[in-house]
Amino acid sequence: MAGLQTKLSTLIASTARPLEQARGIQTVGDLLDFYPTRWVSYDSDLGTPADGEFVVVVGEVKSASTRPMRNRRGSMLSAILTDGRSEIEMTFFNARGHEDKLRPGAKVIAGGQVSHFRERRQLAHPGYTLISDLDDSALPGLFPLYPAVPKLHNWNLVRAVKVVIDQLDPLPDPIPADIRRRRDLLERAKAVIALHRADSKRHLEVARTRLRYEEAFLLQVVLGRLRAAREAEIATARVVTDGAALAAFDERLPFALTPGQVSVAAEIEADLAREHPMYRLLQGDVGSGKTVVALRAMLTAVDAGAQAVLLAPTEVLAAQHARTIRAMLGDLALGGMLGGHPDGTKVTLLTGSLTQPQRRQALLDIASGESGIVIGTHALLQDKVIFADLALVVIDEQHRFGVEQRDALRAKAKTVPHVLVMTATPIPRTIAMTTFGELDVSTLTEKPAGRSPIQSYVVDEALPTWVERTWTRVAQECGRGHAAYVVCPRIGEVEEGTVEEESRGAADGGEPWLPFDDGVSLRPPIGVIETLAELQAKPELAGLRLAVLHGRLTAEEKDRIMADFAAGAIDVLISTTVIEVGVDVPRATVMVIRDADRFGVSQLHQLRGRVGRGEDPGLCLLMTSVAAGPTRERLNAVAETDDGFALARLDLQQRREGDILGARQSGGRGRLRFLSLIRDEELITQARADAREVVARDPELADHPEIRLAADQWVAPEQAEFLDKG
Ligand code: ADP
Ligand code: MG
Repeated sequence: MAGLQTKLSTLIASTARPLEQARGIQTVGDLLDFYPTRWVSYDSDLGTPADGEFVVVVGEVKSASTRPMRNRRGSMLSAILTDGRSEIEMTFFNARGHEDKLRPGAKVIAGGQVSHFRERRQLAHPGYTLISDLDDSALPGLFPLYPAVPKLHNWNLVRAVKVVIDQLDPLPDPIPADIRRRRDLLERAKAVIALHRADSKRHLEVARTRLRYEEAFLLQVVLGRLRAAREAEIATARVVTDGAALAAFDERLPFALTPGQVSVAAEIEADLAREHPMYRLLQGDVGSGKTVVALRAMLTAVDAGAQAVLLAPTEVLAAQHARTIRAMLGDLALGGMLGGHPDGTKVTLLTGSLTQPQRRQALLDIASGESGIVIGTHALLQDKVIFADLALVVIDEQHRFGVEQRDALRAKAKTVPHVLVMTATPIPRTIAMTTFGELDVSTLTEKPAGRSPIQSYVVDEALPTWVERTWTRVAQECGRGHAAYVVCPRIGEVEEGTVEEESRGAADGGEPWLPFDDGVSLRPPIGVIETLAELQAKPELAGLRLAVLHGRLTAEEKDRIMADFAAGAIDVLISTTVIEVGVDVPRATVMVIRDADRFGVSQLHQLRGRVGRGEDPGLCLLMTSVAAGPTRERLNAVAETDDGFALARLDLQQRREGDILGARQSGGRGRLRFLSLIRDEELITQARADAREVVARDPELADHPEIRLAADQWVAPEQAEFLDKG
């Protein structure tokens, strides 16, 4: 008998070597894990396979002839196989052993790679079996085709797998019998065997469903255990009965919170009052009002006598957060200062570009607790930054940060802090259930009243009148006292050796999966610098004040330009994706995105969220030189819908499944081989319920060693941490 660890060399001597050499397959377990990529049925005729294609054909020997070889000793056998309509030639350079079998009239199943010789399709040295020789058990109902293994016929692989399966010990099953029964799932061994030896398409599908479920289940077990481990962590409850700063803030808020904001705020408040850390993901489309919700949570921390920190992905965004938060807080942000509110606090901005004295003061305020609200970039992660009492970590646009960075911040608190991560890239349900499975998810679905709709159109660069009209519209908007963004995929004119901060923006800033090979124009993407020159020369735009914004400017320059733009001193801001997230300038009403095909769906949606933030409707013009194909369809979809969730789903469909859990995962065992996060929503929901039940009853999986082992193997420890993406 053979277990998963049994060396193949003890079972199938001649096949074992090539398997190990070419595919690293050494054990029974490895071989069973080596799944066929296609399955064919025997009723298929010879067809018209192309050169290089691996086929399995069923036919009758029409004629066979042996002739001596010209340059070598020995003889060559040629047998013509027919299905009554077409023919294929089987050739063997050593006839011996084959002559007796391949006689006219013999029925054969043959498998091999198709080539052409003198206008005739042939299979050189195919593997074959005479149907008369077959005992039924030797042959699977569907014939499996494995990924190519050099020096090994697919046929021999089928045989080797059969040998292994015939001797296989019972396999451990990570899905408990009661769940299998409830969900009507095959046993693991049966499913694995079926992939190699399926009776029918239906049988194959049942096996796949079982393995899909298994992946979903194990993933949910891993996430459930992470969640349980977190539940065991102790945090300081930040309960506030008479939240003075929060009350004062609410009183002066110029608008009423939306019902969604109210309920999310209540969830957060309840989380903060617990002695276990909050891990909450707050997702909401651009402009859904996440910042106010986060700020209220931060004020709760302040009211509790502690501190909150807001981590932003870029300096522009950190500076803007500081500006808007200070503005919203008014005298509440002047705690300890003359004219400050008695219940207020100090708001400190910490970025890499502070001067030495500024930085020293900021560090001091943070360490003394003087500053209750700290806003910053990666600079906050440095060792020198010490908090007096950090209660809450808020992370904006979490997909830009890794787990390591988040944990570096967490480590700065005396007790584990509460964590709120915010994202404007709405995460489809299945992803929320898998990648983010161990976070609590809050979603803001409605936009605050009074927000103006954004109209979007695709502008064909090949049509001069459209292009002209685009710039005329920009001029018209600016003429009304509004402002415009022109977004480009890169800075351009980069000197040798400099790294473009935003070159990540279009290429992989948050969307590394973007397929660029489906019809994107081949010329280099348009840059900010050349766009400036181009627009300066446009008569339509004469007299308008243009400026550029990109990652190569210093923080002060960026700050100044954004402030000028917000204040009305700049009409047209030509920018890279530095303005992608969060930037809030209500007077900007129009955005032109050049080479829009260079951006991902969610990214475009983010970008256009920068306009229509005031009373006037927003307009987004997606310029492209791509006239047709999937890329163009993607742009059309963005123009047609303003629903961030629908677009996120579209985005998801364009990524390869494996990428969703992160690139690091793709090489490991943990990659999803059967499960589709797009297709299998229902199954994932079931698996999650089942996994939660198991983990709740048996958190250490002491009574479920098979689950424990499979979960540990399925996702290696560093991957488990990676899955924990919040
Ligand atoms: P997000 O960060 O989710 O993109 P913001 O928090 O920046 O959105 O909010 C966008 C704009 O809407 C801001 O100007 C904010 O002041 C405003 N806003 C937030 N909540 C409300 C509300 N309930 N009613 C009206 N305006 C709101
Ligand atoms: Mg925001």
